[in-house]
Amino acid sequence: MWSKRKSVDYSLQRRRTLAELQGALRTMVSHDALDADPMLIRAALHHGELSEIRCPVNNCRQLLRLNYTFGDQLGQYSGRIKSDEELEQMENEYGEFTVYVVEVCSECGWNHVIESYLLGDGTVRKPPKRASTVEDIYG
Ligand SMILES: [Zn+2]
Repeated sequence: MWSKRKSVDYSLQRRRTLAELQGALRTMVSHDALDADPMLIRAALHHGELSEIRCPVNNCRQLLRLNYTFGDQLGQYSGRIKSDEELEQMENEYGEFTVYVVEVCSECGWNHVIESYLLGDGTVRKPPKRASTVEDIYG
């Protein structure tokens, strides 16, 4: 993506978490790092894009990637999950927003933030006008 900047690679932390996890598994079965929120698993199954790599914990095939988008300019849409295709569209529509890439294994529950970066064309815009949601209408 042309506007990608301030990229942070969390793969080192992932390796550290993984080493800690394997250590914990060796001494005592601990599922803390594998405790993916059921909502996160559901989101991954619906919106996730299959990763080219396998799950680093159990070599599972169902390793999915989710792009969470955050930013003031996104208004009420901040926090939504977007596909790579949607991100390419959004970087031309918004000045700046942050993308957090989360890796989720739908088989064993491994989940980790693997990367974060900024996207956007740099033009400051007002957030979109707040549209009413189902919650506004039905409380
Ligand atoms: Zn797995």
